[in-house]
Amino acid sequence: MPNVVFPLDSTKKFTEQRHVGHNRWHPDIPANVMVKPGDVFRVDCREWFDGAIVNDDSADDILNAPLSTVHVLSGPIGVEGAEPGDLLIVDIVDVGPIPQEDSGPLAGQGWGYTGVFATRNGGGFLTEQFPDAYKVIWDFRGQQATSRHIPHVSFTGIVHPGLMGTAPSHDLLTRWNTREAALIATDPDRVPPLALPPNPNDAILGTLRGDAFTKAAGEAARTAPPRENGGNQDIKNFTKGTRVFYPVFVPGANLSMGDLHFSQGDGEITFCGAIEMGGFIDLHVDLIKGGMATYGVSENAIFMPGNTDPQYSQWLAFSGTSVTLDGTQRYLDSHLSYQRACLHAIDYLQTFGYSDIQAYMILGAAPIEGRLSGVVDIPNSCSTVYIPTAIFDFDVAPSSRGPVRIEPGPGVPHSPA
Ligand code: ZN
Repeated sequence: MPNVVFPLDSTKKFTEQRHVGHNRWHPDIPANVMVKPGDVFRVDCREWFDGAIVNDDSADDILNAPLSTVHVLSGPIGVEGAEPGDLLIVDIVDVGPIPQEDSGPLAGQGWGYTGVFATRNGGGFLTEQFPDAYKVIWDFRGQQATSRHIPHVSFTGIVHPGLMGTAPSHDLLTRWNTREAALIATDPDRVPPLALPPNPNDAILGTLRGDAFTKAAGEAARTAPPRENGGNQDIKNFTKGTRVFYPVFVPGANLSMGDLHFSQGDGEITFCGAIEMGGFIDLHVDLIKGGMATYGVSENAIFMPGNTDPQYSQWLAFSGTSVTLDGTQRYLDSHLSYQRACLHAIDYLQTFGYSDIQAYMILGAAPIEGRLSGVVDIPNSCSTVYIPTAIFDFDVAPSSRGPVRIEPGPGVPHSPA
């Protein structure tokens, strides 16, 4: 096992650990460990709500999920010699759930969850259709995930970090805050909000204390969106074997990560989220000096995906176009066409006996593929969602016999908003 540079004790809260991580982005958060180019090391990661979501049959914890506390990130990890303008090479050597033998109330070992937030608490991709809070528990056996809340489905985990990135510079942080505040100002009372402004409540900023903490907490960026530093990209293909090239904005790069997922469908459409879990990630780092200019990287990280995906060979795909449910034509709106593709798949799966929320949860958690199939054929964009047929223990393809009816079980825990 590689040297554990950022250990977490599963019996203690995030703020009581030997190294205290952070849940906001800010350039002044000091690195709490240093590594060298060429090092291989292990980082423990907490589940993104630090244990607030429990393994039971109620969605009340999702209904009241404390969004101001996320994401609890491990880091910052400083890399010796890294300077602004470099590219930081990060190899994901291994990634997985907390080992079964590790115990404690916050371990989350052997299981994970997928939630849907109530509209007033963040919502999700299909919040108009699903305005309440819902939760599904997934059990892990080796690489397989199954759920007592969704019978007749099992799939191979595509384990990855939902969130990883380098610290922003002061200048970059100011640009984020300026542009996101301008967006919020266009509709400041919207539910759910258009973006999340800095919020000092529940801010955790590593070892920052006193006036430095107060100043940084008032301007530190929330971790929900992906931005130029990588961040919460939720790319399901960041599996073992992935190599990522992150832009470096501050001396030492200050790499942080968390939000580990046992599996996820493209888009993480359930928002809370994929299959959320605590775990470990083993990394190797190196530098390309001056690499941002050399390779024209100013916008965001580039990456070479891992080669350990589950190898599904047969898919059932659903398409959607940019027409609203009430029949209004929109111009090349790919967000809408992906919603329509997902709703199309949900309608279809219900004909086998699943509830609508069971079908939605499958699309959020299983390794489904989302594609922008056509973006130029005015006025309709075409998005598609591909479901691997082998995740079901029955024949899910259409046939002249009609759909086999499955027993849907007790269903998905639901807490009305
Ligand atoms: Zn997540």
